[in-house]
Amino acid sequence: MERHYQPGELIAVMTTQPLDRALDYKAPEGGVFEGAFVEVPLGPRKVLGVVWGPGAGDYEISRIRPVIRVLDARPMRGEMKAFLTRAADYTLTPMPAMLRLGTRAPGLGDPPSMRRIYRRGTEAEPDRWTEARRKVVAVLDEYGGLAFTLKELAEHAGVSTSVVKGLVAQGVVAEEDSPRDLPFPRLEPGAAQVELTEEQGAASAALVAGVESGAFGATLLKGVTGSGKTEVYLEAVAACLKAGRQALVLLPEIALTSEFLTRVEARFGARPAEWHSGVTMTERRRVWRMVSENGAQFVVGARSALFLPFQDLGLIVVDEEHDTSYKQEDGVLYNARDMAVLRGSITGAQVVLASATPSLESWANVEAGKYKRLDLTSRFGEAVMPEMRAIDMRSEDLPATRWISETLAGAVTERVARGEQALLFLNRRGYAPVTICRACGHQLGCDHCDARMVEHRFQKRLMCHQCGETKPMPAACPSCKVEGKLAPVGPGVERLAEEVAERFPQARVAVLSSDLFGSAQALKAQIEGIAEGGADIIIGTQIVAKGHNFPLLTLVGVIDADLGLQGSDLRAAERTFQLMRQVAGRAGRSERKGLALLQSYQPEHPVIRATLSGDEEAFWQAEARERRAAGVPPYGRMAGIILSSPDVQAVFDVGRALAARQEPLARIGAQVFGPAAAPIARVRGRHRVRLLVKAEKSAPLQPALAAWVRQIRLPKNLRLAIDIDPQNFY
Ligand code: ADP
Ligand code: ZN
Repeated sequence: MERHYQPGELIAVMTTQPLDRALDYKAPEGGVFEGAFVEVPLGPRKVLGVVWGPGAGDYEISRIRPVIRVLDARPMRGEMKAFLTRAADYTLTPMPAMLRLGTRAPGLGDPPSMRRIYRRGTEAEPDRWTEARRKVVAVLDEYGGLAFTLKELAEHAGVSTSVVKGLVAQGVVAEEDSPRDLPFPRLEPGAAQVELTEEQGAASAALVAGVESGAFGATLLKGVTGSGKTEVYLEAVAACLKAGRQALVLLPEIALTSEFLTRVEARFGARPAEWHSGVTMTERRRVWRMVSENGAQFVVGARSALFLPFQDLGLIVVDEEHDTSYKQEDGVLYNARDMAVLRGSITGAQVVLASATPSLESWANVEAGKYKRLDLTSRFGEAVMPEMRAIDMRSEDLPATRWISETLAGAVTERVARGEQALLFLNRRGYAPVTICRACGHQLGCDHCDARMVEHRFQKRLMCHQCGETKPMPAACPSCKVEGKLAPVGPGVERLAEEVAERFPQARVAVLSSDLFGSAQALKAQIEGIAEGGADIIIGTQIVAKGHNFPLLTLVGVIDADLGLQGSDLRAAERTFQLMRQVAGRAGRSERKGLALLQSYQPEHPVIRATLSGDEEAFWQAEARERRAAGVPPYGRMAGIILSSPDVQAVFDVGRALAARQEPLARIGAQVFGPAAAPIARVRGRHRVRLLVKAEKSAPLQPALAAWVRQIRLPKNLRLAIDIDPQNFY
C-alpha cells in the first residue's frame, strides 16, 4: 500500500510543467495517497501533477497552498515512478517532460463523466420468475462482470426496459452510476490455437516458460519474414493472459494496418486495446484508464504505449525491434526498444524483441549473454525465402533519365503477365530530389533550412523534407530569373511512376509513399487494396518494407541498392543490410517463390554481397569487429549534443565553450568531438551545431554529461538537446 498523507501534511508534487523539481503543497481535505494524480495551483493556473513524496519543507510554510483536488484516477504505482525516474536519468530528460509521456490521457483531469449502469445485484431471486426476467438475468450471468446501460441490457435480453426496472426494485439487478470508460472485452487465451511446427513449438515453449516464471528476462526472437514469429509470440501473450497479467505488443506501423488486430481477434476472440496516433481522444482516455484499472488485458500500440499505467505487466513484445521509428527524435529522445527492456526489468516482465533482421545492439546483447536467443529458420508452409540477385548497372545501357534496367523490366513483365505483383522499391519521396537551373546551375533550396526543396509533382509543389515548408514550383529561376530552365535531377517515387506508366502501359500502378495520402486511414485502405490484388506494380518508399503482407507479390526490384551506403553514418551498413533484407522479404510470402533484384553500381561491395548471400552471422561478425575496433556502439557509448539557435554566432560560441571545458568528461575517459556545423546546418531558421561524445561502454556517461553541460549558461533562444545513443547524425 502506498503511503497516505493526512490533510494539511506537507507533500511534494511533481507537475508536468517545465520546472526543475517537485513543489511543496498541503495535502487536501481527506488526505491523499502517494502517487495520486492531483490538480495544484501554480501561479494563477491549475496544473496536473503527481504526489511524489513528502514535502521538502524548504519553502515558507505560510505561503504553501493546498492541493485543489485529487483526480479520479488510480494513483501512480511505485513501479511506474521508478520506471519514469530511471528513464529520465538515462535519457537526461527533466522529470516533468518524462511525466508528460506518462500522463498523455486527454481529459485525465476532467471530472469523470458518469452514466447509469446495470449489473447483477445482491438478491439471487425475484419474488416471482417470468420468462422476461430470466432472460435479463441470463444475459448478466453470461457476460460476467460486464456492465450494461439500461438500453443495452434490455436490447440484449430482448425485453422492455420496465422488466429491468422491475428487477432493480427487487435487488436482483443493481443500478449504479459508473464512469463512462468501459472495460475492454475479456480475451480468451485458448479461443483458437494453430498447430505449431516443431521449431515454432520449441520457441513458443521457451517464451511461455519465461512468462510463467513471472520474472524479468529478455529474448531475441529471430526469424525470417513469414516464419511465424507473430504466431509464436501470441502464444506467450496467451500464457501471460492465463497468468492474469497484462501484455503489450509494440509495432512500428500499427496505425497503418489492421492485419495484426484481425489476427488477435481470431486468436483470442476479441480485439486488444489500441494506442497510436490514429486513435480518438475519447478512446485514448479509455485505454489509459482501463489499463490502470485492469480493464484492458492486452494493448497493441506505438512506442508511447510503453508509458501507459499498467497495473501488472507480464510481457512486452517489441516487434520489428530493429526499426528506427522506435527512436523518438524530438521532445524526449528515447529508444522504445531499450526502454521496454528497462520497464520489463523493473516490473518483472518478459521482453521479447522480434525481428528478421535484428539490430547489432540486440545481437551483441545475445553474444554478451544478456539476452536469450530463439531462431526460426524457415518460412511457414510452402513459402521459401526469395532468391536474391544483383543487377550490375555498369553493364546495363540506361539513358540518364531512366532508372529501370532492361533486366529488371523483363522480370516485371513476366510477373505481370502471370497475374502476380511486382514491387519497385525506391526510398525517395517526391518527383525528384534536386531541381537545378540549367541556365545558372542554381539548386532550389528551402528558405529556412540548408536543404534542397524536393519537387512533389502530384501536389504541384516544392517541399522541404526538413521543415515541411511547401511552395509552388516557380516559372523562373529565383537566382538568374531565366524562365523555363528548371529541370529535375534524379528520381523519386513519383518520377519512377512516370517511367513505369510509359514502359508498362497496361499495368495498374500504385504508389505507396507516406506523403501521398491525407490520412493514415487512406494509406491503410490503399495497402489493403493492394493486398487484395488491386495493383500489378507497386512503387514504394520504406513504408512498404514494414510488415505488410502482399500474397500476390513475387518480385521485388530495388532501384538503387547503393543509396544507403553513402554517408558517414556508423550504421549505414547495418541499415542497408536490414532494409534490403526486409524489402526482399516482401516477395513470395505464400506458395509462389519470390525473386529480389538489387540494382547496384558496386555489386562487389561487402554489404551488397552479404545482403545477397544472406549469411547474416558473417555480416554481424564483420560489423561487430569493425565497431569494436572503433569503440562505437554497441561496444562503446555515444552521446550527441545538438545546439540550435537563430543566432549562428551564439551556437558556435556555446559549442566552443563546451569543447573548452571538458574536465567532467575527461575524468571518465570520454572524448569530445566538435563543435561542427551539423550536416543539415540550418532547420526552420535555426542554426545547428553538433558535438559528439564517445566513451567506453562501462563509463558513467550520464552524470558526467550533466555536470559538463551545467557549466555553461545558455543564452536565451539557444536550445541544447542531449541525444544518448544517437541513431541519426543529421
Ligand atoms: P512472421 O511474424 O515471422 O512474419 P507470421 O507469424 O506472420 O510470421 O506467419 C506468417 C504466415 O504464416 C501467417 O499468415 C501465419 O498465420 C502463418 N503461419 C505461421 N505459422 C503457422 C502455423 N504453425 N500454422 C498455421 N499458420 C501459420
Ligand atoms: Zn525547410
